[in-house]
Amino acid sequence: MLKKLLIANRGEIAVRIIRAARSLGIPTVAACSEADADSLAARQADEVYIIGPARADRSYLNAEALLQAARDSGADSIHPGYGFLSENAAFAEAVADAGLIFVGPDAQTIRRMGDKAEARRTAMAAGVPVVPGSPGELENLDAALRCAEDVGYPLLIKASAGGGGRGIRIAHDADELRREFPIAQREAQAAFGSDAVYLERFIRQARHIEVQILGDGERAVHLFERECSLQRRRQKVFEEAPSAALNGAQREALCTSAVRLAESLGYRGAGTLEYLFDSHSGEFFFIEMNTRIQVEHPVSEMVTGIDLVQSMLRIAAGEKLEWSQEDIRLEGAALEMRINAEDPERNFFPSPGVVESLGWPQGEGVRVDSHLYPGYRVPAYYDSLLAKIIVHGKDRAEAFARAQQALEDTTLTGMATTLPLHSWLLADPRVQSAQFDTGTLETWLAERAAVAEV
Ligand code: ADP
Ligand code: ADP
Ligand code: MG
Repeated sequence: MLKKLLIANRGEIAVRIIRAARSLGIPTVAACSEADADSLAARQADEVYIIGPARADRSYLNAEALLQAARDSGADSIHPGYGFLSENAAFAEAVADAGLIFVGPDAQTIRRMGDKAEARRTAMAAGVPVVPGSPGELENLDAALRCAEDVGYPLLIKASAGGGGRGIRIAHDADELRREFPIAQREAQAAFGSDAVYLERFIRQARHIEVQILGDGERAVHLFERECSLQRRRQKVFEEAPSAALNGAQREALCTSAVRLAESLGYRGAGTLEYLFDSHSGEFFFIEMNTRIQVEHPVSEMVTGIDLVQSMLRIAAGEKLEWSQEDIRLEGAALEMRINAEDPERNFFPSPGVVESLGWPQGEGVRVDSHLYPGYRVPAYYDSLLAKIIVHGKDRAEAFARAQQALEDTTLTGMATTLPLHSWLLADPRVQSAQFDTGTLETWLAERAAVAEV
């Protein structure tokens, strides 16, 4: 097993990783910025190293500082969490070169799948359908205009290195493509350090469905799918497992395509293959792979009973998968509500502050992943995620009832949060009946804002 694990992250995921390490008897080192010196992760870890100032580029994105903390603390392994350096191939390589274990796939796999245009080619080679689009990156506007004729409008211009819902622009016709293409290139360069972009047909009324996989380098298994269609600005807000849109045959086809792709890569670790699903035609299309743990992983844990973060640590330590696919069963339904420090009544304006009173829901099938404690000051420097409330029930109806109760039982004062948004969502007939796509929440928020203005 791993001897000592350094956590190169913060917030709820740092706390989540500490819990998994502890259950396997692995001592932990929290690598924290100065702004996180009094964080819950810092309080819970066996050791704490301050790696730099609040700004992420000087702390959580500072590979050298993280490696130094690993050396100084005698850690033999590093878990990158999500965001920050989790999908940075150069970091994975530097960790390996320093003689340490990176909890995730090797640098080559991260490089291949982290480049979204390259990931599309890899998926096609494994026989997995992709959204119709450009064969790869586009050299220039002329190439884009030629390619767009085949792809068809409307289409998306996507940054090859993009992520987090950023680096995607829409073009409805050639004129718009002429205007947007250079902007997309410039933005991609500024945000992701590469101006490479590619085109993808815009799939209307698509559902975002993704497959969780685990691989040990030889074999891969899937832990079924999650549906994450309720999004704002292409960022997930509310997720569930399984997807209510799939029938058994569709689920089987989707999940086995993900395993095929993972095995074609000799994938090691936890990963997610994201797809768009057209519920009218029943077709699915691969869009990208995330070679890391994802924010919404708990819903898959709830419906399979498998601890994904523990599994990542075991795989990193060299263990083989302990299950065959038939051992992994789907039980009931789970959903996750992301609680952010944003005010849904004021266009999701960020609202960091100090936690005044705090009470989490309890009971059968209820789980809260959070780094908050009473008196904690939420720093303004980072992602606004405060907590994830996850519920599990024997079916979707029971999960919804438990979610409703969980929201009623939650107390969180001191800042505006997205808690009310989730109450609205749970009460909405479209959400209850699972009649939604990736555009539904935006449309609904726009309608609501229009009504409020009258
Ligand atoms: P998930 O895919 O796990 O649902 P998100 O898309 O919400 O995750 O991303 C998790 C975190 O990682 C967010 O803080 C997001 O901003 C960040 N992130 C994801 N991809 C990138 C990227 N390529 N560059 C910078 N930040 C990213
Ligand atoms: P990121 O790396 O930022 O997570 P993705 O490629 O996963 O980017 O896309 C994020 C979201 O954007 C998807 O969940 C979906 O809502 C939307 N999207 C992406 N590609 C398409 C497409 N071809 N057609 C329609 N919507 C898309
Ligand atoms: Mg994505």
